[in-house]
Amino acid sequence: ELTAEDAREMLIYIADKVIAKKPYLTEIDSAIGDGDHGIGMAGGMKKAKEKLLKMEGEENAYAIFEAAGKAMLMSMGGASGVIFGSLYLAGAKGAEPKASITPEDLAGMERKSLAAIQERGKAEVGDKTMVDALSPAVDAMEANSAKGLLEMLRAAEEAARQGVEDTKNYTAKFGRAKSLMERAIGYQDAGATSVWLIFQGMREFVE
Ligand code: ADP
Ligand code: MG
Ligand code: MG
Repeated sequence: ELTAEDAREMLIYIADKVIAKKPYLTEIDSAIGDGDHGIGMAGGMKKAKEKLLKMEGEENAYAIFEAAGKAMLMSMGGASGVIFGSLYLAGAKGAEPKASITPEDLAGMERKSLAAIQERGKAEVGDKTMVDALSPAVDAMEANSAKGLLEMLRAAEEAARQGVEDTKNYTAKFGRAKSLMERAIGYQDAGATSVWLIFQGMREFVE
């Protein structure tokens, strides 16, 4: 179980982690994209952290994810703001308030977020986007939720990592990498890398 306070601390931990990886994400997005992914993610995570720091005492765990997602969405702007804001926001929005969430709740939340991201962005697995990491991670969460939070997150992290590896084999359907066609092969997708870092952060926090 993850209490609202656990969730708050976990998302702050993830924000610090992604902010620290800004140069790494920039480097990845520079290879086949426009090089702004590190700036976008670090900026969004900074705003999310600022909001979370003010939410001590919040009793609804979903409100923590919702607030962090909203802060990202509003500060990052553009398509990637919607996509990465939705990762926290879409699954939490409208959920029945809960003081603590189960592994099944977390898996269900991310399933909803994935659906919203795909509905909006139209990316499928194999299109060289963050969906390539998120979709297998959500599958792994659902398959492992009965084993408890840590085991579920370990499985999700590994699935996301494999998903990032897989993006190296794909040509891109979106963004600047699309125009590179076969020349994008061999390079991993920046957004998928962020998803992997976020799941890695969840696992590290819980461990
Ligand atoms: P931009 O592409 O506007 O410069 P970023 O560099 O911040 O924004 O983010 C790029 C990442 O967004 C890509 O690496 C990819 O993972 C993700 N992405 C782009 N388009 C989509 C989409 N339609 N659906 C899902 N993810 C997408
Ligand atoms: Mg970019
Ligand atoms: Mg850009």
